[in-house]
Amino acid sequence: MKEDLTVFNKLVDQLLKAEKEDPVAPYIEADKLFETLDLNLEEEPMSEEAFGESLRQLVLNTPRTATKMFFNQLFGGRQPKAVLGDLLAVMLNNSMYTYKVAGPQVGVEKAILNQICDMIGYGRKGDGTFAPGGSMSNLMAMLMARDARGEKIRKKGINESMTMYTSKISHYSIPKNAAFIGIGRDQVRYIETDDQGVMLPEALENQIRKDIDDGFVPFMVNATAGTTVLGSFDPIEQLSVVCKKYDIWLHVDGAYCGAVIFSDKYKHLVKGLEKSDSFSVNAHKMLGTPLSCSIIVTRHRQALYDSFSNDASYLYQTDGDDFNLGKISLQCGRRNDALKFWTLWKSEGTIGLRRMVDQEFHLADVAREYVRSHPDYTLYSFDDSISVCFNYKDLPPKELCTMLYENSEIMVGFGSFRGQEFVRLVTINAGNKKEDVINFFKAIESFVEVEIE
Ligand SMILES: *Cc1c(COP(=O)(O)O)cnc(C)c1O
Repeated sequence: MKEDLTVFNKLVDQLLKAEKEDPVAPYIEADKLFETLDLNLEEEPMSEEAFGESLRQLVLNTPRTATKMFFNQLFGGRQPKAVLGDLLAVMLNNSMYTYKVAGPQVGVEKAILNQICDMIGYGRKGDGTFAPGGSMSNLMAMLMARDARGEKIRKKGINESMTMYTSKISHYSIPKNAAFIGIGRDQVRYIETDDQGVMLPEALENQIRKDIDDGFVPFMVNATAGTTVLGSFDPIEQLSVVCKKYDIWLHVDGAYCGAVIFSDKYKHLVKGLEKSDSFSVNAHKMLGTPLSCSIIVTRHRQALYDSFSNDASYLYQTDGDDFNLGKISLQCGRRNDALKFWTLWKSEGTIGLRRMVDQEFHLADVAREYVRSHPDYTLYSFDDSISVCFNYKDLPPKELCTMLYENSEIMVGFGSFRGQEFVRLVTINAGNKKEDVINFFKAIESFVEVEIE
């Protein structure tokens, strides 16, 4: 093991150096991948030297997501304390299903979940778990919402046409999960938003009324806290009134920006969250832990047991249900995703997490200010969002983003809203500073000047 850790340290040194010198890795065309790198598996073992070289090539040619030129997805940067926690999780290799096998790691997970339940007002009636990503957190919420309609569903399956509601610009995991949970993709109703991407409560209520009249059974509303493209927030408080009136489960998908709960300045964006039935947040997005670290909590602790517990005498042999986390999780064997978040939170304090969230909003303000004050740019997104959508000199965003990628300049993606395409800059890396955001724009400008004009 020790020798391999030495190899690891050496590779990390080389990677960190490469990230500094070239923040974007060399571009390899997808159909030339297998001729460019030594990836094929052989019958014979390799010499340590040749193996080390293959590994080095692989590491140095992999897209660099921790650098100051990575803005492509809703994660980025590297929080060293969180990386430390994740490396330890790999070394310890516990499985989170029982206290017998995970021991104090159960407490690590519970400490995070209890704290979050308290912070958002669910209190001790709430509980939660870690799911393999935000899509799966949404799946767990949808399963709990479905099962909350009655015991029959879990045992006999669905025999009604159950409908759910989400905004037109919500995450694609919702229709996917609708098929998984057996209600069918056609039973998802896409509710209109206003011109800033915020779900309209009146449109929601009208659709619910219509569905009830038509014999459907509305069971769930999904509100998004940080829509994937615009970073807009649905009005939880108002949606909760509608949900209460029709006895519908309200889930808040905070995968992208649910971490605003840590900020005194921005938690107003999820006002009314305590009235929701479930809430999910990805620590691997705004809080910068390694992938993946997704938390789902519910105000109804029993709902987790109702939907996810099953007896298994070969597994649950000691300790009570409260400590055997497999009773409330989607998986059986489950990796320890809590430790990396715990090491970050423990070392930086809640204040540290608050600073990260506030810094990301600050960087977005810097970016919007830049776009607004430079006439070659057009802004397509709104305040109180860490997605800054824009176009430069009316260049088609898809072509621009692809050229920046293929020339190893910047990793950034594009999106669209109401038929308008644009570049989407996400200020999700709290390690960035004001000048890093300015540099992003300067890099685009000089690239366009040299390569396009
Ligand atoms: C990213 C995202 C998800 C999915 O999270 P994964 O961890 O990638 O599965 C779900 N909902 C929203 C709003 C997101 O932005």
